[in-house]
Amino acid sequence: MTIAAKDKYDVVVVGSGAAGQAAALTAQENGTSVLLLEKGRTTGGSANYSEGIFAVGSYLQKEKGIEVSGTDVLKEEVEYSKYKADSRIWRKYVDTSAENVQWLANEGVVFERVQAMGAGEATWHIYEGFGYGAIHKALEPKFLKLGGELLTSTAAVALKLNEDGSKTITLRNEADGTTEDVTAKVVVLAAGGYLNNKEMMAEETDYDLSRMIPVSSGKGTGDGLRLGWSVGGRKDGTGMAMLFGGYLDDPDQPYFKMMSSQMNVAAGQQPLLWVNEDGERFVDESVIYNFSYAGNALYTQNEVYSILDTGVIEKMAKDGNYMGLGVYVERGDKMDKLAADYLVAVEKGPFYAFKLNIGAFCTMGGLKVNVNNEVEDEKGKVIPGLYAAGNDASGLTGDTYGPNMPGTCAGYAFYSGRNAALDAQKYL
Ligand SMILES: Cc1cc2nc3c(=O)[nH]c(=O)nc-3n(C[C@H](O)[C@H](O)[C@H](O)COP(=O)(O)OP(=O)(O)OC[C@H]3O[C@@H](n4cnc5c(N)ncnc54)[C@H](O)[C@@H]3O)c2cc1C
Repeated sequence: MTIAAKDKYDVVVVGSGAAGQAAALTAQENGTSVLLLEKGRTTGGSANYSEGIFAVGSYLQKEKGIEVSGTDVLKEEVEYSKYKADSRIWRKYVDTSAENVQWLANEGVVFERVQAMGAGEATWHIYEGFGYGAIHKALEPKFLKLGGELLTSTAAVALKLNEDGSKTITLRNEADGTTEDVTAKVVVLAAGGYLNNKEMMAEETDYDLSRMIPVSSGKGTGDGLRLGWSVGGRKDGTGMAMLFGGYLDDPDQPYFKMMSSQMNVAAGQQPLLWVNEDGERFVDESVIYNFSYAGNALYTQNEVYSILDTGVIEKMAKDGNYMGLGVYVERGDKMDKLAADYLVAVEKGPFYAFKLNIGAFCTMGGLKVNVNNEVEDEKGKVIPGLYAAGNDASGLTGDTYGPNMPGTCAGYAFYSGRNAALDAQKYL
């Protein structure tokens, strides 16, 4: 073997983001032999940038006296999805979400606090050092310490089901292009969706991609979905990206640089005047309190501009932005005073028009799974030993992400990776 240390594993995990890391560590703790694959040079995927995860009934919420009903969350999420989300998947996720946070904390993930996002519920458990800290300071070192094998710059490029129930995975060394096959009893697909694959986005979604700005790891190229579909996994729940509202396109900078820019947040993420290319207002701009709705609203027009006058700019320079964007960009200190004062006149020139594109964090969905994250085929039968987790799995959303319960996307990724690995014990 020139790429992997062995030719046979109990578990091969494809992708080292939130879902893959949780799956790999859980399987390793269960005493199985695990190979964790990462096609990039570095690990963590888009999960590195995530700020926090969803849970109800966690130790942090209890300490703070925060009560959020799991049943209310379930009801709201399923209704929000127009019943396209799978209630059984939500039920198990919600019911074990506190345990998920506890497990991560036991593994060494440090949670700083729990908070709401905008007007939503306080379900967002913010980890120290972003998802990067959770993965690189806790999960991955633990996995390696327990003897897990991690290969970076190594992509899973093909998957085959064998008659004895095992699976053959073709690995490709991304540095020199060499390939090699390994077999495993269990494969967990956790490759992070397809936001960064333009052909798949064009094929699977209706979005105008010329206006969409992916702000992610850049490595979500749909490999997990294609591997799963290639062995009969059912396509389900494609078509949706997690939009997060207005985003400026600066041709001189990589997209991600704008993420933490005060100017981007000022122009793109505030309840300020929005007009289309004919100068018409088209929506109540308070839509930005749901960042996914804001993305949808921006897509109803051909072009959208955020209009700021000198008065607004002076006010924001003095008091800060009206609204923050997660914890990347804090809102201004004098927010409470300003909150009563949202209807700001646009009257004092010079005026500025910022063209708004639409930012997107990730796609969600693609492979139909059951409550154990086992991949199902066209007839609803489980493909034994094949799992999909995180953004590769369907069942969590309809056509629009629900930010009212913040953290559900990364929370689901950690939870579902672990959920898959726990269930996979039955094949080992
Ligand atoms: C800027 C930003 C902020 C976010 N903030 C939040 C937040 O606060 N809360 C929240 O809930 N969600 C948040 N999200 C979404 C969250 O990051 C994702 O839901 C989560 O990372 C999904 O985890 P995953 O494991 O499915 O995918 P990822 O974390 O993207 O990991 C997938 C990994 O698979 C690897 N891979 C792909 N193909 C292959 C292959 N063929 N072989 C081997 N490896 C492969 C990729 O390189 C990548 O490392 C945010 C996303 C972004 C971009």
